[in-house]
Amino acid sequence: MLLRSITAPLTEIKGISTAHLPKLKKLGITDISSLLSYYPREWEDRSVKVSIREYQKGQVCTVVTVKAHEWMFFGRKRVLKVYVEDESGTASLLCYNRPWMEKHLVKGSRYRLFSRFYYKYGEIQSGSFEIEPYKEQETSNPIMPVYPLCAGLTQNLLRNSVTKTIEKYAGKLENELPGEIITRDNLLSKADAIRAIHFPISSNELEQAKKTLIYEELFYLEIMVGKRAIERKGRRVGGRGEGVGGRSEELGVFSTLQQRLIERLPFKLTPGQTSAIAEINADMVSATAGAFFSMARLLQGDVGSGKTLVSFLAALRAVDLGGQTALMAPTELLARQHAENAAKLLEPLGLRIAFLTGNIKTAGRKELLRNLEAGEIDLAVGTHALFSKDVNYKNLKLVVVDEQHRFGVTQRSTIMAKGKSPHLLMMSATPIPRTLALTVFGDMDVSVISDMPPGRKPVKTHLTRLSNGDRAYNFVRKKLDDGCQAYFVYPLIETSDKFELKDAVSMSEKLANEIFPNHSVALIHSKVSEDEKKKTMDLFRKGEIKVLAATSVVEVGVDVPNANCMVIEHAERFGLSALHQLRGRVGRGKEQAYCFLIYSDDLTEEGKHRLKAMWENSDGFIIAEEDLKLRGPGQISGLEQSGFFNLGIANPIRDIEALSRARSDAFFILENDNDLILEDHRIIARVLQEAPPFSEVGF
Ligand code: ADP
Ligand code: MG
Repeated sequence: MLLRSITAPLTEIKGISTAHLPKLKKLGITDISSLLSYYPREWEDRSVKVSIREYQKGQVCTVVTVKAHEWMFFGRKRVLKVYVEDESGTASLLCYNRPWMEKHLVKGSRYRLFSRFYYKYGEIQSGSFEIEPYKEQETSNPIMPVYPLCAGLTQNLLRNSVTKTIEKYAGKLENELPGEIITRDNLLSKADAIRAIHFPISSNELEQAKKTLIYEELFYLEIMVGKRAIERKGRRVGGRGEGVGGRSEELGVFSTLQQRLIERLPFKLTPGQTSAIAEINADMVSATAGAFFSMARLLQGDVGSGKTLVSFLAALRAVDLGGQTALMAPTELLARQHAENAAKLLEPLGLRIAFLTGNIKTAGRKELLRNLEAGEIDLAVGTHALFSKDVNYKNLKLVVVDEQHRFGVTQRSTIMAKGKSPHLLMMSATPIPRTLALTVFGDMDVSVISDMPPGRKPVKTHLTRLSNGDRAYNFVRKKLDDGCQAYFVYPLIETSDKFELKDAVSMSEKLANEIFPNHSVALIHSKVSEDEKKKTMDLFRKGEIKVLAATSVVEVGVDVPNANCMVIEHAERFGLSALHQLRGRVGRGKEQAYCFLIYSDDLTEEGKHRLKAMWENSDGFIIAEEDLKLRGPGQISGLEQSGFFNLGIANPIRDIEALSRARSDAFFILENDNDLILEDHRIIARVLQEAPPFSEVGF
């Protein structure tokens, strides 16, 4: 986050030479604003004394007397060694490349010394240390910043430059947060916060500085997000003039077609599904009334919460509106499953359905494309092939992206270009905390299905050591004998010289011949041909195959309710969200389901943490939060657009509470007091003016 009220070139600062500039640039420091915003990595508290004898405790911080000088080696390589002593003991300082230290460190004089030490050749030594003449009267701050550095730069250069910059410019810094917020939350002024983040006078002040700067970053992030969200809503309002008029009674009511599908289902919609579809209906109906704005909605729901059905109901609404739907899935396997379900549920209602993937070439494809273009297909289900160059739609009304996190941003924008601002429904089973979701997808609406279809029992999870794997096999054998089905998932397709891991190919043989000789076993992974995959999945679905040896191809979307055992071997090799997705493949029927996470001995701490998290939690939201803590927010797709990567000090996961408040503050300002506040806050006004408009951000 940059300072918005001042700027000047770095060369204004004494001590920074032109030779430093390229190095500073590597750290992202290009002017004084980015220098002051280059926050320390950590802070050393030098008021805490650590004597030489206590060097193992950490950074030594003590007052020493210089005892002797000694030269090691000869010629150009010679190195000065200085013996120093405090009341606890003696240490030696190796002055590599610092021969001038000989004059600097006077025998018998006292110095303040900071350094980490190690024990070598019978001495307590240090090769990189800070030392300064000792003064009775402490002048410098006890808490010193430690900056991340790159070659050619020193802590001292940064400390001195920052100190000088603060002296010269801090007085000119304007507050970037509204005064009311600063007072309300007891934050520091911008000038104080910047000084204190670099040179705090107490740890208390440091905390306050952090709190201020974190809040400010999140506030401006939300100002940008809010601007886009409000622009989009404005289009909605502007588009339909004075409300929805005559159609308002239709808002949220199921259409006849939707009603017919719901009646055909062997179960009732869950409350979460019902409210999600009501929100979708409301968007799509009011849009038609105004004909200007389109739905942009993120549908979040844990694995197995029944998102597919919601998207089918949305497709029916698109048919009501006389348009086509494209439903995109990340794998052919999943796309096929959706197409088959759609055929079962929607064809009886008269919908014309097509299945389109990259593998469908030849004559069939030509006809399919013709039909799409002629409007003779209502629902096209497929992979990203749905949006290849030669695919055209007559009237694409709705785009559904399943497992949205699997797609890149550009893919999404090519899709949107296939229609005249079609409605967009993105579905995700990688839940992210709501506040964060609102920020990442800040200009989208969010629907959450937080309940599961009734009668589901939580999957029983067992953590099993590899050497006890037989227990899991025996357990599964009993279940198979009772008529159940199982997945066995491996981290590799084939044996590899690099890893000593079990793989799907060899294990499928072993499962078939040795472990479950009485049950049919099949193999599925990404290298198996699509035809073969289809056949295998059909047989598995019908129950003719009992055991599926697989890789993580079965991770997304696969829905076979009769399969209720999931065995993941080398589970420590999988990420948390993959494990959660895989476990979500079972427990879709009424029977109790089981998941065995089999781990090998070389378990890292993080791996252990992941497996424990799986064992302790079944809620995808909690698992996602754990995942974010372990991996950081960089893993969430969509973050790069939202400005998260410009954050310097805030961490939206750790600071989720501040994020919430920043969001409501920012939205309040944008929605209410607009003019008045903006007159007072030219910085906010400027940021708003410079923010890219909604239409350029895209999805
Ligand atoms: P998701 O995509 O959200 O992970 P799916 O759409 O694959 O979940 O649905 C999981 C299973 O739950 C499917 O077999 C589906 O038929 C079933 N299902 C969906 N909605 C309900 C409901 N309201 N009651 C019972 N079962 C449901
Ligand atoms: Mg799904």
